[in-house]
Amino acid sequence: MEGQLKPGSVAGGYATTIAGLNPFSVIGIDIGGTKVGGGIATYELRGRFPVVRGYRMIPTNAQQGGDALLDRVVGLIGELIEQARTELSEFPLVGVGIATAGRVSAADGSIAYANEILPGWTGQPVRATVEARYNLPCAVLNDVQAYAMGEIRHGAAAGAKTAVVVAAGTGLGGAVVVNGSVVMGAHGFAGELGHTLSPYAAGIVCSCGSVAHLESVASGSGIEARYLEATGQALSGAEISRHALEGDREALRVIEQAGRSLGESIGSWATILDPELVVISGSVCKAGKPWRDALEQGVSAQLPEQMRGLPIVEAALGNNAPIVGASERLLDLLTL
Ligand SMILES: [Zn+2]
Repeated sequence: MEGQLKPGSVAGGYATTIAGLNPFSVIGIDIGGTKVGGGIATYELRGRFPVVRGYRMIPTNAQQGGDALLDRVVGLIGELIEQARTELSEFPLVGVGIATAGRVSAADGSIAYANEILPGWTGQPVRATVEARYNLPCAVLNDVQAYAMGEIRHGAAAGAKTAVVVAAGTGLGGAVVVNGSVVMGAHGFAGELGHTLSPYAAGIVCSCGSVAHLESVASGSGIEARYLEATGQALSGAEISRHALEGDREALRVIEQAGRSLGESIGSWATILDPELVVISGSVCKAGKPWRDALEQGVSAQLPEQMRGLPIVEAALGNNAPIVGASERLLDLLTL
């Protein structure tokens, strides 16, 4: 079957079609700052929820640099291809979907920008390298976009046409869903909620180098930095959340500010998009009732009255969401 499948080298996209090919499988990869996950998403039917098999994880070892990381990713893909072809041959392999931290160029699937979490990752030709090595079509997208794609197709937002998706972990990622698909934008960079203006971050230099971005107050690293600034104490986000519940006034202020600022920004985006729901995920969602209450108050404060009651739900797919989402992105490209 794979013999019929050609990498996407033709102008305008992929030459392949998978119409009528059931069952089938896609290799899904999720590249983060500390670990790289991979699995084989096996589909009985296009549109059905895929079962992820053969899941494995390797350390990112980011300090070894971008070239080494790409080698390791290519090696992991090779192992999964081998497993798919020997143990899961009833699911013909149609390609590879890769979710990665950083901004991905929609034009060629290379890394347009990655911050210091992945040194040397900027500029890596991920898609071209994988396609040339394995002669399989490959799709590459940002990890939060991929996670949103998973949730919109098979998770907490399944069936929704319009949604805002937020990942509040160490950093603050976002994605926008319109017409049941993640909006990539002109270059592939759409949805960076964390790097939009927030009045709560006035005067604070962001991880991206700009000033007054939401990530500096609403992300896990932002919560830690704001608490350190206020008290001189370096605590983890989880510890600060606990302190907030135990009556530490500065901890409570920082946690409530994180919720309120994120809520107001979500409300602003919702005002633009009029979404059916908002999906939230990440470690910051575990910050407890003060955070959640502040989030909801922030959303309400910014939403037009006619949109009140906008559902804010937690993500449903867990660790597999980016793998499933990257697979879905590849399938979208193959069936264009
Ligand atoms: Zn920023």
